[in-house]
Amino acid sequence: MRELSNLVLKFRDDLRVSRQQLGGQSCYVIEDPINGHFFRVGEPEYDFISSLDGRRSVQDAIALCAERGTDAITESEAATICRWLVESQLAHTPEAASPDRLWEAARTRATRRRWYALNPLFIRIPLLNPDRLLSAAQPWVGWLASWPFFLLWLPVVLVGLFAVLLHWGEFAAGAQGILAAHNWLPLVAGWAALKLAHETFHGLACKRFGGHVPEYGITLIIFAPVPYADVSTAWRFPSRWQRIFVSAAGMYVELFLAAIAAIVWARSEPGMLAQAAYNLIVTATIGAVVFNGNPLMRFDGYYILADLVDIPNLYSHGQRFLADMARWLFFGTRPQPVPLSAGREWVVRVYAVLALAWRVLVCTSLLVAAYALFHGAGIVLAAAGVVAWYIVPLVQLIRYLARKDHPEPLNFRRAWGVAAGLVIAAYLVFGWVPWPGRASAPGVLDYWPLEIVRCESPGFVRGIHVRSAQRVTADQVLAQLENPELEHEITDLAVLIEQSRLRERGFRSAGEFSAAQVEARFRQTLQSQKAEKEKLLAGLTIRAPIAGVVLGRHLDSFQGAFVQRGTEILAVAGGPPREITLAIDESQARLFAERVGSSVTVYVASAEPIRLQGRLVSVTPYASKRLPHEALGAAAGGPLPVRPHTVSHEGDETALRWELLNPYVEATVRLSSPLPRGIRGGGRVRVSFPVFDETIGEHLLRGLVKWFREKLDQAFAKGAERPL
Ligand SMILES: [Zn+2]
Repeated sequence: MRELSNLVLKFRDDLRVSRQQLGGQSCYVIEDPINGHFFRVGEPEYDFISSLDGRRSVQDAIALCAERGTDAITESEAATICRWLVESQLAHTPEAASPDRLWEAARTRATRRRWYALNPLFIRIPLLNPDRLLSAAQPWVGWLASWPFFLLWLPVVLVGLFAVLLHWGEFAAGAQGILAAHNWLPLVAGWAALKLAHETFHGLACKRFGGHVPEYGITLIIFAPVPYADVSTAWRFPSRWQRIFVSAAGMYVELFLAAIAAIVWARSEPGMLAQAAYNLIVTATIGAVVFNGNPLMRFDGYYILADLVDIPNLYSHGQRFLADMARWLFFGTRPQPVPLSAGREWVVRVYAVLALAWRVLVCTSLLVAAYALFHGAGIVLAAAGVVAWYIVPLVQLIRYLARKDHPEPLNFRRAWGVAAGLVIAAYLVFGWVPWPGRASAPGVLDYWPLEIVRCESPGFVRGIHVRSAQRVTADQVLAQLENPELEHEITDLAVLIEQSRLRERGFRSAGEFSAAQVEARFRQTLQSQKAEKEKLLAGLTIRAPIAGVVLGRHLDSFQGAFVQRGTEILAVAGGPPREITLAIDESQARLFAERVGSSVTVYVASAEPIRLQGRLVSVTPYASKRLPHEALGAAAGGPLPVRPHTVSHEGDETALRWELLNPYVEATVRLSSPLPRGIRGGGRVRVSFPVFDETIGEHLLRGLVKWFREKLDQAFAKGAERPL
C-alpha cells in the first residue's frame, strides 16, 4: 500500500459491534446495517481497527496498540487489515466524503439487485413481518425449539428412517410418476405445509435466543416458489451453537415431519393417505439434501458451515479469493492474503472452488431445464439466465480486474493475451472441434442376388420338386401346380374356335362375305382369350429364375394346398450373403443420405463379433412404417418396435402382419469384404460410420437436453401403476 505510514483511515461509526467468546478467546462481530454484512475479527485486530478515528495515521495507530498490549500487530498485518477495511467498506479515508461514497456503494448494489430482479428465473418477493406473531406464539410453542423436544425428535426420526429402509424396494418404485398430473395438488399442499413449518421453526429458534425476524418472503426460482425467513440477526448471538441451531431449525422440523410421514406410509394400505405421506417424505428429503442442507449454496447449510469453520462471510472471502486468482491469471499480480483467518485460507479456497463448480453446474442445469421444459418460451428464459448468471458476473469481474487501486502495476498486455487465449480455447472446444460421433442403424444381412419365387397363376400344388438348400440351375422346374378349371376353359375355347372356323367356311361358300368377316373377328377374340389362358397354364409350372440355392421353410406344407396368384413359395439365392437391408431412424436419415456411395462398417452379431466393410448403395428418400425385413421387428426378436397390422390380400383372404411403430427410412448396403465361412443369410447386423457433424459443445448440449427430457418424462409419467 502506498505511503502506509501517512495514511489516515476512519472506521465507520454507524457499524454495530458486539463482543463474543470463541473457544476461550474474545472476538468481535461487526455488523454493517447498510450492506447487511457481518464480519468477525480477533481482539488485537479490533483494537487496531477501533483506533482508526480519521485523525490518527495508520502508523500512529500501530504505535498506540503496541503501547497498550503485547499482541501488537506488525506493519504488514496492518496493511492487510486496512486494505480489507476499505474493500469491505468498513472504513474510508476522511477526504473521500464518506456519506457520498457509502451511498454510491449502496446504489451500485441496488443496481446489481435490480439486475437479479430482471432475471425471470430468480425473483425475491418479501411478504410479511412475522416478528410480533412469533413473539406472541413463543410462550405456547417455544418449547419446540428446546432440548426436551429433541428427546422426542431423535427416536421418531430413527424409527422413520428404519421404516423407509425396511420397505426400500416399494419406496424407490414410488418415485416414478410422482409428478403425474393427479398428484400435483397433494404434492403442492404437502410441500406448502412443510415449508410453513420450516420457516416458522427458523423464526421460533431465532426468537428463543433473543433475535428478531423482520421478514418472511418467497424466492421464485424458475417460477418455483421457495420461502425464506430473514434470521440474519442471529449473527449477534454470542454462542456459535445457538447460531447453528437457528440455521438448522428448518431442516430439523422437516426431518421430524418426514419421519412421522414415513411411519404412516409404512403402516397404511395403498391409497390417498399413503400417497400423501410418500409425497411428504420425498419433498422433505430432496429439500434437505439438495437445497437447505447443501453448504455450496447460500441456504441453511451454508450458514451452518460458516459457523462450524468460524469464518463468517466465507462466501465473500471465497469470491475475493477467486477474483484475486483471476487477477493473477490476467495481470500477473500477486494475490493478497484473505485477512483475519490466518492458517485457514485453505478452507476459504477449497470452499470457493467447490461453490463455483456447484454454481456453474446448477445454473447450467436450470438453463437446460428451462430450455427443455418450456420449449419456445424456455429459450427466452434461458437467454435471460445466461445474461444474469454469466454475462453480468463476467462484466463485474472485468471491472474488478481493471480497478486501478492495486499496489502493483497492471500488465495489460498479459491480460489481453490470456483473454484472447481463453476465447480461442473456448471457441475451439465449443464451436469448432468436432465431436467424434457415429451414425448407426440395424439391418439384416441377406444373399445376393436373391430372387423370391411366387405363384404366377392360382392352383393346387401337385408337386414340389426341390428341397431347401438344394442347388438348382436356371429354368429348372421347382414345383408343379394344377388347375382343372383352367384346363376345361381352354378345351371349351378350342371347341368354340373350331365351330367358328366351320361357320366361316360355310358363309364363304354361300357367298356371304360380310357375315364371314364378322365370324373371323369373333374367332380372333376367342383365340386371344385362349392364348391368355394358356399363358396362365404355363405359369402353373414354376421354374428357377436364376441358378442358385433354394431357400424355403416348410416347403412340404404346400403339398396339395390351393395357392393364390402372388403367394411366395421359396427363394433362390444366387450368391453368398452380401446385401444388407437397413432400417434408419428418421433423425439419422440425413447423415445416411449424405453417405451414399461411401464405405461403412458392418458388425455381424455372432459368437465372435465380426467387423466387415461395406458400401452404402442407396437410401430411400422417404420414411415409412413398412417393416423392411421380418427379422428386424421386435416380434422376431429384432430391435424395432412393431404392432400387429392386418393386410388384405387379393380376394377376401387376410393375414396378420407386423407394422413399425415409428416410420423408418430403408437403405441398402453391399458388403465389400469377403464374408467368413459359416455366416448365413437372414442374420441381424449393425451398420455404422463416423460422423463429425456436431461440435463438442453442440453434442454436450444436445445430450443434456435429451437427458433432462427423459427424466422429466419419467417423473411426469402416469404413476400409481404400482401400489405404494
Ligand atoms: Zn431454512
